[in-house]
Amino acid sequence: MNFADTEVVLGILKAKGYEIAQTLEQANVVLVNTCSIRENAEQRIYGRLGNLKTLKEGKPDMIIGVLGCMAERLRKDLIEEKKMVDLVVGPDEYRRLPEYIDIAFHGDKGIGVRLSKTETYDDIVPYREDGLQAWISVMRGCDKFCTYCVVPFTRGRERSRSLLSIVDEIKVLSARGFREVTLLGQNVNSYSCEGYDFADLMEACAIVDPFVRIRFSTSHPQDLSMKLLQTIARYDNICKYIHLPVQSGSNRILELMNRTYTIEKYYEIIDAARELMPDVSFSTDIIAGFPTETWEDHLETIKVMERVRYDGAYMFKYSPREGTKAYKMPDDVPEGVKGKRLQDIIDLQHSISSELNQKLIGKSEVILVEGESKKSGAFFAGRTDSNKMVIFPRQQNVEAGDYITVTINRGTSATLFGDYTGIVAKRAVNSSDVA
Ligand code: SAM
Ligand code: SF4
Repeated sequence: MNFADTEVVLGILKAKGYEIAQTLEQANVVLVNTCSIRENAEQRIYGRLGNLKTLKEGKPDMIIGVLGCMAERLRKDLIEEKKMVDLVVGPDEYRRLPEYIDIAFHGDKGIGVRLSKTETYDDIVPYREDGLQAWISVMRGCDKFCTYCVVPFTRGRERSRSLLSIVDEIKVLSARGFREVTLLGQNVNSYSCEGYDFADLMEACAIVDPFVRIRFSTSHPQDLSMKLLQTIARYDNICKYIHLPVQSGSNRILELMNRTYTIEKYYEIIDAARELMPDVSFSTDIIAGFPTETWEDHLETIKVMERVRYDGAYMFKYSPREGTKAYKMPDDVPEGVKGKRLQDIIDLQHSISSELNQKLIGKSEVILVEGESKKSGAFFAGRTDSNKMVIFPRQQNVEAGDYITVTINRGTSATLFGDYTGIVAKRAVNSSDVA
């Protein structure tokens, strides 16, 4: 989400004549786009700002600014108490960023932290380098108020961008040779605009160009409708991969988290999706050590992982966030226990991912080639529909952006290895040329 927001910010600043500096030392303005979701994210930013403050001592005219959720949460601390930055601008005030930069250049503090009920940056053209993969923010904010989460406070109420503006953006990306678009939102499937729901949006995006893959993240189980599952099933270019955060396997904890579903309801969605799309893969988010979580609650989470067998998971220790409801609950799972439970969860996920990847050995997969493998120029890398990285020996006739088939011959928990078997479609920079 911050990556997509940074492209919006670059679009706004470029329209005002700013250019991207090649090095930090050359920059007159340094903007750090921040995340507040867990405490360690904020601590890392404080570390980074400390380094920038040192840099500024040798270059006093340099403007340092904090964008994003930390600007919203910690404006006073950053500007008045720690005096670390010249401007703070929250996620709904980027349009006015050039003004705040001017204010800072004139020696005042630029502060823009109002949240908006309507801002979607619909008409802003995000600045994107040419490439294969693009993020598109289709809705902003969150109305769910999970008790542990700062997002509703730092990003404000839910609002969605118009379907037509999103489709137009995909048309431009397709013509530029992009091959994959990820629709983004805190609860992307609660998208709602001018009578269109998220399934309508997915369909409209999928028919723009059959060679542009459509992904989406993140979906909330409460809003994952049958209509959406049917839409995913209907289009070959909608990836059969659903990130569906479960957070915990215990109904008692889910209720304390205000997640608005039970684990039985969650299973119903998984089962319905698998019935429609036998090859669909799932990933999830899990929090270990939420207040009052017992060993039995933890075992319920393990049970869900064993039942669903996720392809991947983002796994976190509970981090108390000031201002949230859970912050008032006793953070009573000792740090060591939280750590141990998290490790159990990570180890289990690791072995499940590994087993699922072993099962793919001998199978043929279509992948979108992304380019040279990071480790060796003799190999190329690409991704399956289910978002798995596949490494294969470089081929003369294969370039980044091509769809090819590979036969999987080896797998670890994180990566698959395969042999090239054929071209499905070559990349074309004007999508109408793709046949
Ligand atoms: N909207 C998405 C959803 O409801 O699933 C998730 C968005 S949130 C930015 C990403 C993940 O961060 C959450 O799914 C949750 O697992 C984790 N998270 C959020 N607040 C947290 C906290 N206070 N401590 C630990 N993890 C947290
Ligand atoms: Fe946070 Fe819950 Fe909203 Fe996700 S749904 S962003 S976890 S409040």
